[in-house]
Amino acid sequence: MSITGIKGMNDILPGEVETWQHLEQLARDIFSTYGYAEVRVPVVEKTELFCRSIGEATDIVEKEMYTFSDKSNNSLTLRPEGTAPVMRSFIQHKMHTLDPVSRLYYMGPMFRYERPQKGRYRQFHQIGAEVIGIDSPLIDAQVLVMLSHFFDAAGIKDVSLQINSLGCPECRPGYRQMLIDFLSPKRETLCADCQRRIDTNPLRVLDCKVPTCKEATAKAPSILDGLCEGCNDHFTAVQKHLKQVGTDYSINPRMVRGLDYYTKTTFEMVTENLGAQSAVAAGGRYDGLIQSLGGPAQPGIGFAIGLERLVLLRGDNRITLPRPDLFIAALGDEARDLAFPLMTSLLTKGFKIDMDFSGKSLKSQLRRADKLQARKVLIVGEGELADGNAPLRDMDNATQKTVSLTRLATELEKLLTEG
Ligand code: ATP
Ligand code: MG
Repeated sequence: MSITGIKGMNDILPGEVETWQHLEQLARDIFSTYGYAEVRVPVVEKTELFCRSIGEATDIVEKEMYTFSDKSNNSLTLRPEGTAPVMRSFIQHKMHTLDPVSRLYYMGPMFRYERPQKGRYRQFHQIGAEVIGIDSPLIDAQVLVMLSHFFDAAGIKDVSLQINSLGCPECRPGYRQMLIDFLSPKRETLCADCQRRIDTNPLRVLDCKVPTCKEATAKAPSILDGLCEGCNDHFTAVQKHLKQVGTDYSINPRMVRGLDYYTKTTFEMVTENLGAQSAVAAGGRYDGLIQSLGGPAQPGIGFAIGLERLVLLRGDNRITLPRPDLFIAALGDEARDLAFPLMTSLLTKGFKIDMDFSGKSLKSQLRRADKLQARKVLIVGEGELADGNAPLRDMDNATQKTVSLTRLATELEKLLTEG
C-alpha cells in the first residue's frame, strides 16, 4: 500500500500554488510599504513558550498543541501560532535596543490538532504582522488600515472588519467578575466546555458556537460598558482614526479572541461564506505579553491571516502561469542537437522555452505545444536541416515566418522580443 500524507495536512499543488505565491508576494509588497521587515522563526519551540503566552486555559493549549519530547526529553511544540515565537525572538535578540519601534511580519505553517474540515486543518498557514513599541491608538488604526488594504488588494470583497476592546489588567477583572455573576445561575444551560470555562476563562463563553450557549449569553453584560477611562479613550480614538481614513468596521462586543495575551483593541476579519470558519484574519493588542515572557515592558499589536481560508474565499479566481514564448518541435537526433543549445541560450536570456525531450512524433509535439499554450512553435526536421531554413509559427494569429538556421539564435531573440 502506498504511503499517504497525514490527515488534516495538505499538499499545495501546482495550479493552486500560484495563488499562494501571489498572495504571499502581495503581503510582502504591502507590508514592506508600511515599513515591516520579515522575520523567520523556527517551526518548533519549547512548549513552555506557548503555555506561558497563549494561556493554559485556552483551546490551543488545552487540546490543540502538537507536543512531543525530543531524544533529550525536552518538551517541544510545533508552533500553533506566530506571535509567541516572534516575541521570543524579539526578546532574545534585544531588538528594542536597535530601534524603539519594530515592525515585523512572518509567513509559514502553523500546527493545531483540530478536527479537520473545510477551512480548518492540522497544518495551516498564516501571514502575520506585529508592531512593537507604540502605545498610540494611531498604530491600532494603521494596523487595521493595512489589513483592509491587503484584503482589498487581494480582491476579497465578502469580508468585514469587526473590532472590540478587551480592556486591560485594570478593568478586565471587574468585567470578568460581572460575567461570572451573570453566567453562574445559567451554568446548567451551558455546554460542558463552557461550564468549565466559567471558572477558568469566562470570557470564552461568549465565543462558544453551541446554540444553547449563544442563547444563554445573549443578554450578557458588554465588556465595553466595563472599560476604564484609559481603555475607553483608546478605543474611541482608534475608531476616530478609522473614520478619518474611511476604513469600514463594526463593533462586536462579544468578540473575545481565544488567546489570553490580548488587551485593549482586538479585531477579526470575518466572512459569511465559510460556514463556522468565519474568521479569516484575527489579532489585537498585547501590551503585557513581552514583559510576561521576560522581555522589556513594550506594548505590541498584530494580526494573523489564515491563508487557506483566504484561498477558499478567492474561489476559482486562479492565477495563470506565464505562457512559453517558444516551443521547439525537433524531429530526430540532429535536430535535437541543434535545438538543445538554442533553447539553453534563450532560457538564460529569460525567454520561456520548452522542447520535446523524448523523440515524440511531430503531431504529438504540436499537441504538447498547444497544451502549454506556447506563443510560437519552431519546427526543425530533416527537411529543414537540409534546407537551412525552418518555419516559425505564431500560434495566436496562425501566421508563419521562415528563419534561417545559421542565424537562428539572433533571429529568434529578435522575433521573441518583438512579441
Ligand atoms: P477559529 O475561531 O476559527 O478556531 P482562531 O481564533 O483559533 O480561529 P487564530 O488563532 O486567531 O484563530 O488564528 C488566526 C487565523 O488563522 C484565523 O482567523 C484563521 O483564518 C486561521 N486559522 C486558525 N486555525 C486554523 C486551522 N486549524 N486551519 C486553518 N486556518 C486556521
Ligand atoms: Mg481555533
